[in-house]
Amino acid sequence: MVKLPIYMDNHATTPMDKRVLDAMLPYFMEKFGNAASRNHSFGWAAEEAVDKARTQIAAAINAKPKEIIFTSGATESDNLAIKGVVEFYKDKGNHVITCVTEHKAVLDSCKALERAGKATVTYLPVDKYGMVDPDDVRRAITDKTVLITIMAANNEIGTIHPIAEIGRIAKEKGVLFHCDATQGVGKIALDVEAAGIDLLSASAHKIYGPKGVGILYVRAKGPRVRLTPIIDGGGHERGLRSGTLNVAGIVGFGAAAEIAVREMGQEAARLRNLRDKLQAELFERLDEIYLNGHPTQRLPGNLNVSFAYVEGESLLMGIKDVAVSSGSACTSATLEPSYVIRALGTDEELAHSSIRFGLGRFNTEEEVEYVAQRVTQEVRRLRDMSPLYEMAKEGIDLKSVEWKRD
Ligand SMILES: *Cc1c(COP(=O)(O)O)cnc(C)c1O
Repeated sequence: MVKLPIYMDNHATTPMDKRVLDAMLPYFMEKFGNAASRNHSFGWAAEEAVDKARTQIAAAINAKPKEIIFTSGATESDNLAIKGVVEFYKDKGNHVITCVTEHKAVLDSCKALERAGKATVTYLPVDKYGMVDPDDVRRAITDKTVLITIMAANNEIGTIHPIAEIGRIAKEKGVLFHCDATQGVGKIALDVEAAGIDLLSASAHKIYGPKGVGILYVRAKGPRVRLTPIIDGGGHERGLRSGTLNVAGIVGFGAAAEIAVREMGQEAARLRNLRDKLQAELFERLDEIYLNGHPTQRLPGNLNVSFAYVEGESLLMGIKDVAVSSGSACTSATLEPSYVIRALGTDEELAHSSIRFGLGRFNTEEEVEYVAQRVTQEVRRLRDMSPLYEMAKEGIDLKSVEWKRD
């Protein structure tokens, strides 16, 4: 019997790896020093640990240790990259290019700059698989463009963008390229040199590390990227991010990054296998189900599916012992369908029917079998109660039906 509840929402966050916790533990008690204390051994020990983590994380993306700035998470890193570049380069231009399926940390940073009158932003569309077209990026560049910000892989549908091509275009046009690689680092090969990335955001808690610690990679050479900080204070992190470093968290991020990169090959293969199995079982047992995201250029642990005639939220309620995520986010009082799924051109009903399965390091084959079984059972139960599904099965074209209210 599998142990319940089952966690299959690893794009939202991941449990910590025990090896990461073991690396962190000494830095809460015996090695509690402030990494900025330059005049005693407590400070030196903390600084040494931070330096090691910086080296581990730099190695994971082919950067140099001094190019890694520690932050509180990818949300802060995205804010720093976008607002920091726009502010610093304001005499050069004020145009930013991004895409409609970016994480809110990117989109809302762009919106805040627009509201403040500090930037004009182009939001590029995506194709039906959620992929941005590099030619669209090229066409959007003007002589006022200072930044392109496109994610490595999407957190809802797992689609992997052609970032090396986008990086090449950015270099060619002399525009900086920021990449939110929070879902990419440790899961797919990422190389800031090969992909022409100038700024990169990542977060520990998406790769089996602790919550509340992230990084921003800031290219030092070719070109040297400049930023205006958003937090002022003691001048930590080369003046780009003041505040006492979260030493234990940083040590955890370093350990998590090293493990993720070392084990990436086998882990990706294992997750892809489990994911494909889950996908195959659902598609074999159920009709009227649709894959959201790219069929092949997709994160190995990602499966996002719309179950027609079933509300995602109702499905979640019916499978309480399985932790997955629905495409409808309770952003406000109203239940809005996911803007990412909507951007694929999916109609509103189907967008409301989407479920995201996020497989991770600790999921097992037994869990996948259980989830496939439970979801199939629940979808069938909900459809049995659905007059719409019944009508569709009888061959009635629902779009032609005139709905009367009385
Ligand atoms: C989780 C996530 C973030 C936010 O990261 P935090 O460290 O939780 O602030 C940003 N971008 C993407 C793509 C994410 O998946």
